[in-house]
Amino acid sequence: MSREGAIQRAEEHFDGGEFLEDLARRVAVRTESQVFEERREEMDAYLVEMRETLERMGYACEVLANPSPLAGPLLVAERHESEGLPTVLMYGHGDVTHGQEGEWEADRDPWSVTEDGDRWYGRGTVDNKGQHSINIAALNCCIQERGSLGFNSKVLIEMGEEGSSPGLRDFARQHRERLAADVLIASDGPRIQPDHPTVYTGTRGLYAFDVSVELRDGGHHSGNWGGLISSASVILVNALATVVDKRGQIQVPELRPDESLTDSVRNALGDLNVDGGEDGPEIEPDWGEESLTPTERVFAWNSFEVVAMIAGDPDRPQNAVPPKARARCQLRMVVGTEATDIIPALESHFAREGYPQVRVTPAGRGDMKATRLDPGHPLVQWAVNSLTETTGKKTDILPNLGGSLPNDVFTDIIGVPTLWIPHSYASCSQHAPNEHALKSILREGLCGMTGLFWDVGDGKMPGSIAE
Ligand SMILES: [Zn+2]
Repeated sequence: MSREGAIQRAEEHFDGGEFLEDLARRVAVRTESQVFEERREEMDAYLVEMRETLERMGYACEVLANPSPLAGPLLVAERHESEGLPTVLMYGHGDVTHGQEGEWEADRDPWSVTEDGDRWYGRGTVDNKGQHSINIAALNCCIQERGSLGFNSKVLIEMGEEGSSPGLRDFARQHRERLAADVLIASDGPRIQPDHPTVYTGTRGLYAFDVSVELRDGGHHSGNWGGLISSASVILVNALATVVDKRGQIQVPELRPDESLTDSVRNALGDLNVDGGEDGPEIEPDWGEESLTPTERVFAWNSFEVVAMIAGDPDRPQNAVPPKARARCQLRMVVGTEATDIIPALESHFAREGYPQVRVTPAGRGDMKATRLDPGHPLVQWAVNSLTETTGKKTDILPNLGGSLPNDVFTDIIGVPTLWIPHSYASCSQHAPNEHALKSILREGLCGMTGLFWDVGDGKMPGSIAE
């Protein structure tokens, strides 16, 4: 009974084909959340599959209703071993994006796993069925080797993440006690470098809003009135140009997260490079915050985007002074910028700059809070050391993903520190045809997670009190 023994079980489980068998069975369940109404039975079937797996591992399972009618039920599984032992919460989502049948290379079927070299193609192989399957298999390897986990384990599986997790926040509030834990250890998204493990501890937030100018009801002839009455479109573009400069640098002091760019964040990002993968665009060194490295720009700073804008009808323009103009904007923000502060900050900014006509209103779509556990937190260092011990490789630390996940459910509602250990890479084509996992990452991930859970059972996880 040893760490090595548990990891050897993980290797055998993977190499012997059992992991692939489990994954293929899960990929075959068409859990597309964008057509949720047509997929209710599949959503239930996926939870039956996961419930059977977890019950065989000694978990008490319950499928609970979602407080929102817009997504399927949730599975809560618990293996309680003893009071006084740490509790690890795990999360995964069993829903996937559209299968996009017919659009895959070599006419591959999204609902079966097909192998090609190091790739396993199939919808959900990385997002997220493959990733939570790895973690559950790792727990099982520990149980098989030790006869128990040596800690208490809870697993939460939702079926609505691809539709922005309807009901998940209310569910977490209702079942806060039941989901209480010392740490969240979960997997989603990509590693920053495919051949090294990554630990990330949070997410950037997202806040969408409209910046608009409405001056009068109708347009007036630009020949007769241009130069005499104000133009909504000219005011709007000038106002926006006071928010971001020509290289995209944010000019509003309240929206610049200077204080959260600490030495520990800088150190963690120090030697990392952003790698968009083979199909990604070239990074432009002259775009974004000049004093920061490209890695800091995306992982440690805010970015302001005008995602769409309109004045008049660009396809059928009138010779008129536009009475109205509107831009849909968004801020991707790191810890240090609160969503509730964004509109007041912009309102006072526009007042200072002399744009009393400009209005800022929430778009109310897909907003997410920024989350982060300090990269210097003992839990982060512990996880990094454990993964490095197992894989023999340097483990990269990201303070947060550039994108967003419902991680605030865990950090803010349940109140646990969060460790995310992704088992995919940037070019995996998630949310597109040809989604695939890399076998080498899955295998290494399975071994890494087995070692990590083994170490929790050995009492090596540091006291997990949220900061
Ligand atoms: Zn996804």
